[in-house]
Amino acid sequence: MIVVMEKGATGPQIQHMVQRVEALGLKAHVIQGTERTVIAAIGEKRSETKEALASGPGVADVVPILAPYKVASREVKKEPTQVTAMRLKVGAGAVGIIAGPCSVENEEQILTTARAVRAAGATALRGGAFKPRTSPYSFQGLKDEGLKLLAMARKETGLAIVTEVMATEDVELVSEYADVLQVGARNMQNYRLLEAVGKAGRPVLLKRGPSATMEELLLAAEYILNEGNPHVMLCERGIRTFESHTRFTLPLATVPYLHHKTHLPIVVDPSHGTGHTYLVPDMAAASIAAGADGLILEVHPDPERALSDGYQSLNLPQFAETMAKCRAVAAALGKSV
Ligand code: PEP
Ligand code: MN
Repeated sequence: MIVVMEKGATGPQIQHMVQRVEALGLKAHVIQGTERTVIAAIGEKRSETKEALASGPGVADVVPILAPYKVASREVKKEPTQVTAMRLKVGAGAVGIIAGPCSVENEEQILTTARAVRAAGATALRGGAFKPRTSPYSFQGLKDEGLKLLAMARKETGLAIVTEVMATEDVELVSEYADVLQVGARNMQNYRLLEAVGKAGRPVLLKRGPSATMEELLLAAEYILNEGNPHVMLCERGIRTFESHTRFTLPLATVPYLHHKTHLPIVVDPSHGTGHTYLVPDMAAASIAAGADGLILEVHPDPERALSDGYQSLNLPQFAETMAKCRAVAAALGKSV
């Protein structure tokens, strides 16, 4: 249910209704809109709930939430959400660029990349310290050491750090270093992990599972939101299809579709979405054209020698060219990158 408060409803009236919602055994999420406040009352649907809440002080209306996801839904919050982490701003008109290597490899690699992507206009640095690899024999990431190197790069450049957390037991450690916790595609439906990053309260980049539907992605986001963490960015990173000319198939209709269904910002990952460096610049620009609120791009100073995903990484000049392309598209839409 959504308890829609009247325009100009007072703080005590809103507080009173939160208590009423909780007394009915439901969870209350207060969402402050520009026009009015709404309280999403989440929990098992009961027929008497509407009547019990509708006569409350300052209440304009009580309406059901039709979508299976609740707090993520546009029905609950009309205004787009902006997620911020230091200089990174994503959503509500802001387009944020997250760039960096697939994996943190060593000090020189991460610092060189950080300086270059910052100079070209990125506002966040990506880099995996804990790497989900298909084979147990592939490079698994520098772990704690990688997190320390990311913190060093942040100190020098002021870029926000986006890095993956793979396991519930690592959330505390990774949160000490990261400004944004990335939940990887393979973990999109790891519900314990989603709850843990929800509790951590840090901004989260939630990547779509390669075979997850839009509804499953939004319900995964709901796990994080339901813990009281509203700072969630959704990420389209490509899905598994019969097609093999690209590593994954990157469906850009996701972006306007999700904008229709949710207030959460949408980031696109054309690196994993295509799996080929030469396809990344055009798909990055196309993502901006489709309305993406952000991009996450793999960038490496020497892709040929990268320890992971070199074949889809941009080198430093290629990243600068991609930024120029994205800027031109954004400008045509009245946005800036
Ligand atoms: C990554 O960002 O390097 C990564 C492993 O992404 P995904 O979870 O989308 O495969
Ligand atoms: Mn990668």
